Amino acid sequence: SLTTKTKDLVVIGGGPGGYVAAIKAAQLGMNVLCAEKRGALGGTCLQEGCIPSKTLLHTSHLFEESKKEFPKLGILVDNPRINIQKIMQEKNKVVSGLSKGIEMLFKKNKVEYLKGKASITKPGQVLIEKNETNEKEIIDAKNILIATGSDFIDFPWLKIDEKVVLSSRGALSLNRIPKKMIIIGGGVIGLELRVENNTAKLKVLPIKEKDSKVIDIEADSVLVSVGRKPVTEGLGLEKLGIKMNKRQVEINEKFETNIPGIYAIGDIVRGPMLAHKAEEEGIAAVSIMNGGNSHINYDIIPEVIYTTPEVAKIGKTEEQLKSSGIKYRKSKFPYIANSRARAMSQTDGFVKFLTDQDHKLLGAHVIGPNASEAITECSVAMQYGLTVKQLSHVCHPHPTLSEAILETAFAAYFKPIHF
Ligand code: FAD
Repeated sequence: SLTTKTKDLVVIGGGPGGYVAAIKAAQLGMNVLCAEKRGALGGTCLQEGCIPSKTLLHTSHLFEESKKEFPKLGILVDNPRINIQKIMQEKNKVVSGLSKGIEMLFKKNKVEYLKGKASITKPGQVLIEKNETNEKEIIDAKNILIATGSDFIDFPWLKIDEKVVLSSRGALSLNRIPKKMIIIGGGVIGLELRVENNTAKLKVLPIKEKDSKVIDIEADSVLVSVGRKPVTEGLGLEKLGIKMNKRQVEINEKFETNIPGIYAIGDIVRGPMLAHKAEEEGIAAVSIMNGGNSHINYDIIPEVIYTTPEVAKIGKTEEQLKSSGIKYRKSKFPYIANSRARAMSQTDGFVKFLTDQDHKLLGAHVIGPNASEAITECSVAMQYGLTVKQLSHVCHPHPTLSEAILETAFAAYFKPIHF
């Protein structure tokens, strides 16, 4: 049966872009519906990306530490072993707990949630095929936001079976620990999902076409992590005449497609495929729908690789500055000179600032313990154009890893104290 209702906004996709946009829109007074086909909220990020990967990374760090670091500290644990079923159970608990949390936030903010696959039948109209009943529902929507995200890419000659040949999805739900894994692709996901994750170095085997030598490598599993593609199939975009740029939906600075009233954000549009970028865009897009003029500075979106130690960056790299002929000053402070890092026995890495002649940050790079947290202070400085001198006037608590940022700020216009 076809029922019809009218909404100010229908969001297609309940990932970090879509669900955050839905909540924000409702907070701004819109009557919102969010459709999600996978039967649980949170998208790639929560269901098979950021959160399960970081949960498993945390557990594997603890395991490694129990073997390598604990004895050095005088903690004696006999023969630590892995119970993979229990590890996966705990990971699933984190994921389902957070997913139910989003459902509660939807209720609290009065966002209607439909489990089902959505398509756009015409401008201003969405069709949702409900998962459980197969019922179809047609909704008139003053605004439509496409936030359908991305999916993994595989090779036609190496089909993913999630048993031996894995995508990131399968790798995060294994019921055994692979003895030897071949990882195809040295991007962020490939680096983070290694079994042994205690060094940021990766063996790269270049295979040149003209090089006819074939190398045999034996392994019990293969992880294919060669990139991700936007999910646009079945949405009706072609029929609507929505302009695409290769696989991405093309949008203007208001996140609107070439069809008025249809917007798109997150992994299906240009820019880095990151959860916080999708969230920022979701908030900006619905603010603009409500007459605001939100602007995202794409030059200062932080990026993190969750290896050991973590690697985080914001703004420009030295290579970028050099190639565009921009003069910069480089300053560095190593974690070996940071007392908290010493107390934690995690002294690998450094903070690096690249500043212009007015002592403002052009780029900040952190390799070290909790680099993912440290980078936010640099984001604040860059967002508001603080000079490193101003940053150095902020009182940082002692002993903390954040003092490495303070010291780098000192170094950037004069001299560090502790190095
Ligand atoms: P998605 O999260 O992909 O959500 C889109 C949702 O739309 C999906 O749930 C999908 O089921 C639904 N959908 C699709 N089509 C329809 C339809 N027709 N009807 C209804 N629903 C539909 N990013 C980070 O910032 N930090 C990290 O640490 C990080 N780690 C990652 C690790 C892995 C292994 C992977 C794979 C990704 C990781 N990412 C990370 C990337 C991050 O997950 C994505 O950038 C983010 O999820 C994009 O959000 P989105 O809302 O655009 O799309």
